[in-house]
Amino acid sequence: MTANATRVLVLNSGSSSVKYQLLDMKDNSRLAVGLIERIGEETSRLSHTPLAAGGDGPLLAEGGRGGREREARIADHEEALKAVADELSADGLGLDSPELAAIGHRVVHGGLKFTEPTVIDDAVLKEIERLVPVAPLHNPANITGIRTAQALRPDLPQVAVFDTAFHTTMPEHAARYAIDVETADAHRIRRYGFHGTSHAYVSRKTAELLGKAPEDVNVIVLHLGNGASASAVAGGRCVDTSMGLTPLEGLVMGTRSGDIDPAVVFHLKRVAGMDADEVDELLNKKSGLVGLCGDNDMREIRRRIDEGDQRAALAFDIYIHRLKKYIGAYSAVLGRVDAVAFTAGVGENAAPVREAAVLGLEELGLAVDADLNAVRSDEARLISPEYARVAVAVVPTDEELEIAGQTYALVSN
Ligand code: AMP
Repeated sequence: MTANATRVLVLNSGSSSVKYQLLDMKDNSRLAVGLIERIGEETSRLSHTPLAAGGDGPLLAEGGRGGREREARIADHEEALKAVADELSADGLGLDSPELAAIGHRVVHGGLKFTEPTVIDDAVLKEIERLVPVAPLHNPANITGIRTAQALRPDLPQVAVFDTAFHTTMPEHAARYAIDVETADAHRIRRYGFHGTSHAYVSRKTAELLGKAPEDVNVIVLHLGNGASASAVAGGRCVDTSMGLTPLEGLVMGTRSGDIDPAVVFHLKRVAGMDADEVDELLNKKSGLVGLCGDNDMREIRRRIDEGDQRAALAFDIYIHRLKKYIGAYSAVLGRVDAVAFTAGVGENAAPVREAAVLGLEELGLAVDADLNAVRSDEARLISPEYARVAVAVVPTDEELEIAGQTYALVSN
């Protein structure tokens, strides 16, 4: 790697999409962001935005190089990554640039083996493949993304940053389900947790906001996006998290049920005649907020509540009730809580969710200041009143910056 190679391309390959960002680690600035959706369908959609170096603003004014959008047929991930490479080249940011230090890949499941970001070689790829049975929706797309990127730049270090890695510090008593040990071990059934990159970033940023070292603070992180998870972070290390073997466990989410009695599954099979795939689809895609009220967007749910819609109000109450249970549970797990941090689409934007989640938790030291909570901002900020024992914070997550940072730290050493 040359000394001026400070750029990292972050790739997040989903089953039918590729999200990407090119960052410069000199100053943590974003040079380009983009998204390819509906890969493999009749028409795929590409959007690409070059950004001003040193800032986040699009290069709209002077250069006229605004965001570009187009539709085209993109058959597979290989074509998608070639399209990404072409878009970047058009802005003079091509993959052949000597300034590119590495490609960082978001990989959803790293099992127990990958506790750190890892430079990808054949053995690492094999291990990610071995984990496909526990992440059948995600790991195959991640693998395709890696292989394609390797083919485009075989000489460039490629790094895997795992969603599960931050949670590998969970103690056995938090990570194990109370089921037969031999069966669990034979099938690698345990609680892995997800959104780890976000939980790591947000817990560290929260410590920064409090002016303390991560080792000195205990934080409950509430990552509330379309997927949602909570984590208990003690002194910078995750000690519990709400997602489990898969991202289905835990909080009520946009389309996932979160915690339910597992006997619901047998009941659906025996009484409703549903097979495993149908139950999977029901609990992952047709449950949560969308199952309860038909909408999974919190903005729409709040609008309906304001109009007096009872179903939307009940969905909101169920969502909040679960959230409160996790705040209470993780307060108990941590013993001492210094901060509760809200992040992701709902957590960063929905003031009513933040207010309702801590309402009545004064005995736990939690309160929200209505004026501070109403402020809209992209900055990390405190929303608790001065007197509150526990800080309540809104901390915008930045998984791409975290992946780029971890990738660069690994390859620049
Ligand atoms: P994420 O998965 O982090 O991108 O979060 C997406 C979700 O955030 C959406 O489904 C909405 O429910 C929620 N969201 C985004 N913007 C807002 C907003 N301004 N107010 C309330 N919820 C929002």
